[in-house]
Amino acid sequence: MAAFLKQRGLASAPETATDTTTSPSHPEFIIFRGELVPYDQARVHVLSTAMKFSTIVFEGLRGYWNADHGELYCFRLTDHFVRLTQTMKIARIPGPNDPEWYASRLLDLVRANHLRSDVHMRVQVFVDAEDGPLVATEPVAVCMATTPRGRFTESTGLNVGVSSWIRIADKSMPPRVKAVANYHNSRLAAMQARLDGYDDAVLLTSDGRVAEGPGYNLFMVRSGRLVTPPITEGILEGITRDSLIAIARETLNLEVVERPIDRTELYVANELFFCGSAAEVVPILSVDHHTIGTGVPGRLTLLLRDEYLATARGMVPSRSEWLTPTYGDSSIAT
Ligand code: PMP
Repeated sequence: MAAFLKQRGLASAPETATDTTTSPSHPEFIIFRGELVPYDQARVHVLSTAMKFSTIVFEGLRGYWNADHGELYCFRLTDHFVRLTQTMKIARIPGPNDPEWYASRLLDLVRANHLRSDVHMRVQVFVDAEDGPLVATEPVAVCMATTPRGRFTESTGLNVGVSSWIRIADKSMPPRVKAVANYHNSRLAAMQARLDGYDDAVLLTSDGRVAEGPGYNLFMVRSGRLVTPPITEGILEGITRDSLIAIARETLNLEVVERPIDRTELYVANELFFCGSAAEVVPILSVDHHTIGTGVPGRLTLLLRDEYLATARGMVPSRSEWLTPTYGDSSIAT
């Protein structure tokens, strides 16, 4: 592929600086238009409205393999599908609207693929009208993929830049919706950041407040408090964000404040990190070349990350309600 692109005077697509998650192998089966099909048969027409107008919404979530339990735990499965159905409502994409329906189909798929490792799962719902109009609402296709996937990054943390691209807003293109089209904004910011020598970007709202990263929510530690922008500040209502707020308050006894964050507060923060289902918890080491704290991952960041990962892997019995076992209802060891 690289040679093919070179022949035509095109560089191969830049690898993202941090995403080491691409899997060399693909799973045997995919759910395509609601049916279990071999991976290679999951194809759409180039003139599908999903291709023409991005009539597509999705969810991304993880499952964590616990070798001691012989179990794969899906993290906050139903919560992801509650958000999916909310996204479909806002995006006016009709389709099955019972979160449990999606959960049970996805578990069937993981079992069909016999996955016994950490996995990433992507569920897409799209209007698949062949050469259909902008306002097409049918037919709706539900597709699901489950892919073995390890940690997001092997680096200790990210050096990021504040983007000159402004985060999309609820009044124009709601960021709380997990619509594929929103990632045009994310991609512009992420590409610019990399060309400018950063690992990744922070996007601001049109008022100049901190919103989030291209694919993650953001937290700051200042004066021992954990601070994160509220869900009305141009962010996706992240499930990892929600989980970390609960863990910080209830398990670690930390004070968490949801309030707007100014750009320059980032420069003087004691700690900063991104979070998301795929990224988990990723320390930010510098912003616009300002070192954060002492330039190494912060203590509270690492504490939260460890507790989050232990929870997701089924090692925190008091949080078992967040986990759905895939293969059985093996109890979580204490
Ligand atoms: N913001 C954006 C723009 C994202 O793409 C993601 C990843 N889904 C997040 C935040 C984090 O959301 P979650 O924790 O639900 O994965």
